[in-house]
Amino acid sequence: MRYAAPETVDEAVALLASAEGGAYPLAGGTDLVVQMSSGMRAPALVVDIKRIGDLGRIVSDASGIRIGAAVCGAEITGNAEIASKWPGFAEAMDYIGSMQIQSRATPAGNLCNASPAADCVPGMVAAGATVTVAGPGGRREIPVEEVPAGPGRTTLAPGEFVISVNLPPKPARTGDAYVRFTPRTEMDIAVVGVGVCLTLDEGGTCTAARVAVGAVAPTVLLVREAGAALVGTPVDDAAMDAAAEAVRAACRPIDDKRGSAAYRTRISGTIFKRAAGVALARARA
Ligand SMILES: Cc1cc2nc3c(=O)[nH]c(=O)nc-3n(C[C@H](O)[C@H](O)[C@H](O)COP(=O)(O)OP(=O)(O)OC[C@H]3O[C@@H](n4cnc5c(N)ncnc54)[C@H](O)[C@@H]3O)c2cc1C
Repeated sequence: MRYAAPETVDEAVALLASAEGGAYPLAGGTDLVVQMSSGMRAPALVVDIKRIGDLGRIVSDASGIRIGAAVCGAEITGNAEIASKWPGFAEAMDYIGSMQIQSRATPAGNLCNASPAADCVPGMVAAGATVTVAGPGGRREIPVEEVPAGPGRTTLAPGEFVISVNLPPKPARTGDAYVRFTPRTEMDIAVVGVGVCLTLDEGGTCTAARVAVGAVAPTVLLVREAGAALVGTPVDDAAMDAAAEAVRAACRPIDDKRGSAAYRTRISGTIFKRAAGVALARARA
């Protein structure tokens, strides 16, 4: 196996595009190194992206907040602007692993590892985040929900990699939240994880809502029907019930040791209501 640590995006793209056999970007390594140690992945080339200067920065301007692909979880949860504008995204990141894992793990790595149970992904999808991807054909920006293709697979083309996660400017009276359910309280993988972001008008009527659900399908789901059930309502019990039903209807989970498909489907509505309640309180505040 070859290891390379380029200092520019172009150099990284050239390395990834020209490699024969599997070539993998390496960010925090909290998934990739574990997979290599267990023999699950055997890359011909690993391209460490942490020496690419711009990828280690968080930049905020009128177009939103750009989080470089090498920025780790601890830097995100410790960032006052992200914590105040997008607390749901920050709390999704904060669920990942322990303090040690947080000091390495990145949201881009969580997304590109493409686990259906990835905690950060519903938080990003609910917030309407995009990623900027660099590759042999140049750069492009795509919604986060278009990156995972199935367990362990992404839609990225050979030679492409994520250079930033982009959070949009936050509209007024908007709140986001992420809630996950696990059998244990610490260091476990989601049985269900739900991200919700909603916007209210001055009278308290919902004008926009995004609901994203993890661990209930091969990829994280953006459940548009659940968002639609909230829009135009005061987010009262009837709207919550209708949205929870839409969440349950969208679930296509598997049975595994953490929960049966029926159990995951049933609790997805409950976890949705908890996340939506927090997002609503934040939007009202
Ligand atoms: C003890 C432990 C606890 C954990 N707990 C959780 C948890 O609670 N919730 C959870 O969701 N995850 C958890 N994880 C998994 C892991 O920490 C996260 O998925 C993490 O966010 C991965 O980020 P990373 O930067 O370490 O990715 P890496 O391991 O560096 O990469 C992961 C994958 O993404 C690819 N990749 C990385 N960066 C890019 C990029 N910029 N562009 C394209 N591809 C890229 C790599 O090639 C690799 O295939 C845990 C892991 C451990 C070891």
